[in-house]
Amino acid sequence: MNEVKDLNTGEKFAHASVGNLHNFDGKLFVKDATGATSCEISFGTLPSGASVPFFHSHKENEENYIILTGAGKFQVDADVFNIAEGSVVRVSTACDRNLKCTSSEPMTYICIQAKEGSLGGYTMTDADLTQRENLL
Ligand code: ZN
Repeated sequence: MNEVKDLNTGEKFAHASVGNLHNFDGKLFVKDATGATSCEISFGTLPSGASVPFFHSHKENEENYIILTGAGKFQVDADVFNIAEGSVVRVSTACDRNLKCTSSEPMTYICIQAKEGSLGGYTMTDADLTQRENLL
């Protein structure tokens, strides 16, 4: 069973791990470990033939599902579509969602939950190139 481990933190960062994703098992949320203030990130897996045991919706947060392994189906309200490794699905607030693994291998995914409409600057509109000695 995977678990969230705090690895190291500094004044400006937090580093946690959910462990090996190839045999990932369960559902883990990492916000508490990293102290994230802008989103919640969770890792989940579904064995072959399984779906999340409930539908749910969110009041303020959209969700972005990133499928890492496996394949299956995603349902948003009455819409059903196929998903597979590499799929990225954004789901708005106020709608029901669920996913099911239909591949023989487990479906492992990341879900990033953040307040809908909160993204201001992004990528290069929010980034500044800086001068720093490379210590890597
Ligand atoms: Zn959710």
